[in-house]
Amino acid sequence: MGNDGGSIPDRRDLVRNKPKAEQADKANQTRAKWFFCALSKRLLQEPIVSCALGKLYNKDAIIEYLLDKSAYGDGEEICGHIRSLKDVKTLKLTARSTPPPAAASDASATEVAQFVCPLNLKEMNGAQPFVYILSCACVFSQAGLRTVLGPAPSSKEKSSGEESGGNSADNEQLDVCPQCATKFSRSSDILTINPSVEEEERMHMAMELRRSKEPVKSKAKKRKADAEENSSGSKKKKGSQTVPSPSPAPALNSTISATSRALSSSLAAEEAKRKAGMSDAVKSLYRGKDDAPRKETFMTMGTFTRYA
Ligand SMILES: [Zn+2]
Repeated sequence: MGNDGGSIPDRRDLVRNKPKAEQADKANQTRAKWFFCALSKRLLQEPIVSCALGKLYNKDAIIEYLLDKSAYGDGEEICGHIRSLKDVKTLKLTARSTPPPAAASDASATEVAQFVCPLNLKEMNGAQPFVYILSCACVFSQAGLRTVLGPAPSSKEKSSGEESGGNSADNEQLDVCPQCATKFSRSSDILTINPSVEEEERMHMAMELRRSKEPVKSKAKKRKADAEENSSGSKKKKGSQTVPSPSPAPALNSTISATSRALSSSLAAEEAKRKAGMSDAVKSLYRGKDDAPRKETFMTMGTFTRYA
């Protein structure tokens, strides 16, 4: 035991190099996020689009994906939340006006930011947060936009609104895009590009919430048409169409759970509305799924298979 020439590595020996490796890894990830299409992994080239989760894509890759969902192996995983081109925005980016530093000519050409913030000319390279405005798709650095917009007037309003139980979102004053003068809501229309994990979670919630508020007319019509089209033997298909909303991570914080509560209640309202608007014929189609008799059959079937 001991003094046998073998050395027992302690923790310092094992983890000494880890931070460096982590750093390199992080730098690579940052580069991948800010310079390459999240779907095709090709160098970002205009037109560049972004989704509700703030990821950057080449528009052609998204079109390719929408035409053929299997065009990219992991396409569903990366942008399954993109249902159509309406779910992405073509970003209005500001190209850098100064030539890239001479040193960065060939090997590191991909590391020179193509775009800058039009307000403070900071490079869009992942070093600092960038945002885009949902209503007009103009892209700014977060700091630049914050400076131009000035202090949020809503913070005071909000607290008083919450105290009195009023809805501060409704009487929120809209801001104006400093680049194209489109009106937008500071609280809900500014989306972070390449957000942190926690922020992405929040943005995902916000996306679900927005979608739950979308006019259900066309969707209901479509579902009705589907139901009528394949009225027989399409139970499975119908089942797969109702996309289960990803369950929120438990106990993240109270804001999120409040959001999800609001979401689920609004989803329930939507469902009720949809059911109310259905014709009797369509209702009868749905009845089979909901009613007790069918459930019984299912139960009995289960029992049979179990004991047979
Ligand atoms: Zn704008």
